[in-house]
Amino acid sequence: MKYVYGPVPSRRLGRSLGVDIVPLKTCNYQCIYCQLGKTTNFTNIRTNYFPKNKLINEIKNAINENKEKFDYITFVGSGEPTLYKDIGELISTTKNLTNKPICVITNGSLLYVPEVRNALLLADVVLPSLDGGDKIMFKKINRPHPSLNFDTIIQGFKDFKKIYKGKFWIEIMLMRDINDSKKNLLKIKKIVDSIKPDRIDINVPIRPPAEKWVKKPRKNLISNLNEIFIEYNNINYPEMGSFKLYSPNLEEELLSIIKRHPMRFEQIIETFSSENLSRHDLLLKLEEMELENKIQKTYYNKKIFWKLK
Ligand code: SF4
Repeated sequence: MKYVYGPVPSRRLGRSLGVDIVPLKTCNYQCIYCQLGKTTNFTNIRTNYFPKNKLINEIKNAINENKEKFDYITFVGSGEPTLYKDIGELISTTKNLTNKPICVITNGSLLYVPEVRNALLLADVVLPSLDGGDKIMFKKINRPHPSLNFDTIIQGFKDFKKIYKGKFWIEIMLMRDINDSKKNLLKIKKIVDSIKPDRIDINVPIRPPAEKWVKKPRKNLISNLNEIFIEYNNINYPEMGSFKLYSPNLEEELLSIIKRHPMRFEQIIETFSSENLSRHDLLLKLEEMELENKIQKTYYNKKIFWKLK
């Protein structure tokens, strides 16, 4: 499939069937921690990047093929999904095809646009990100499109949250010596309190980031987090959750996942191993794909990740 992938294991969503509605990597941010690499199509133009009917056909087929094997359908993928102009229509059509909840993982930058707000109101879960407590941090971390303004974006979060009936979970990415100081955490907390999300997820860069100098915070950050975000009480560190894929087409599934998320060997084992597919078989398969120049190893945080060549 070209636009739908997975189900993939997701820290927050269990088994998620992903729908990629913008081409790699189309975004109005250039986050220093982005796991998709550098933003190659840096734009704030909202348009239908792929034909709607093709997306809908694939979604329909994927739902039929996977039936009970996923927990969520997630609009995310290779960039910022709200740049797809008719995202609202995609969500409403998908809702008519399944009872499973629909989630949108977004940077939240366009929630100030009424059309985007109305579109996302149709989703069951919206997961926006907020990494900086002020415009200086915002520019340093997210390196937004020049037409975007920090205060307007935060107002968009608040306006959306006021009318939204679904779950609104903000994700905060913390990085060593960039935004993990107590001062910055307090600034973020103040903004979060004014938005009133249903939950926050604190994350750290666990996959190779766009900029090599981005590092995970030191462990002593946890005491600050516990102190500052105590009432939110949901601090996620590295990925967890055991999960198995069902597809017999290992290579295709593997490529479709690591195209979006570089994976550690242990995650690959967790995701793909089965009675018929041992750890050793998987290692051989990875080495074969490496020799064929389809994938490559990369090192981050002293761990080996596999990513697309
Ligand atoms: S992390 Fe998300 S918002 Fe940031 S550059 Fe990557 S795709 Fe865009």
